[in-house]
Order: sequence, then structure tokens, then C-alpha cells
Amino acid sequence: MKVSVDFDQCEANGICVGIAPDVFELDDEDQLHIVTAEVPEDRLADVETAVAQCPKAALRLQ
Ligand code: SF4
Repeated sequence: MKVSVDFDQCEANGICVGIAPDVFELDDEDQLHIVTAEVPEDRLADVETAVAQCPKAALRLQ
């Protein structure tokens, strides 16, 4: 599955980074980057949690 972010919604609060720092990353300018867009099977649970907990509903898993 692939995870993507709606940059119009993301407020760079880092919640997803805290849950899955190997998948999501914030740079020095508070811009979110998805390090591993194609989510490995063994990281799916954490990414699902990040999607569910993003307060801006900016993440999508498909
Ligand atoms: S949790 Fe949502 S709003 Fe926060 S940095 Fe991640 S994608 Fe952006």
C-alpha cells in the first residue's frame, strides 16, 4: 500500500513522525516528507495508526 499526504491540509505538527519516523520526516523548514511511500507490510500497522491520528486528516493510505 502507498501512503500520501495532502500538503494543503498538513500543518507539520509531527504526530505521524512520532509514530513512524522511518516513514515520515520533517525537514528544517517544517516540510513533511514521506520517506517510504510504498509501505512495507511490517510497517503497515504504524502507518495506519498515523493516518488515523493525523488531526488534519491529511494522510491517505491506498
Ligand atoms: S500528523 Fe498529519 S498534520 Fe501532522 S505532520 Fe503528519 S500529515 Fe501533517
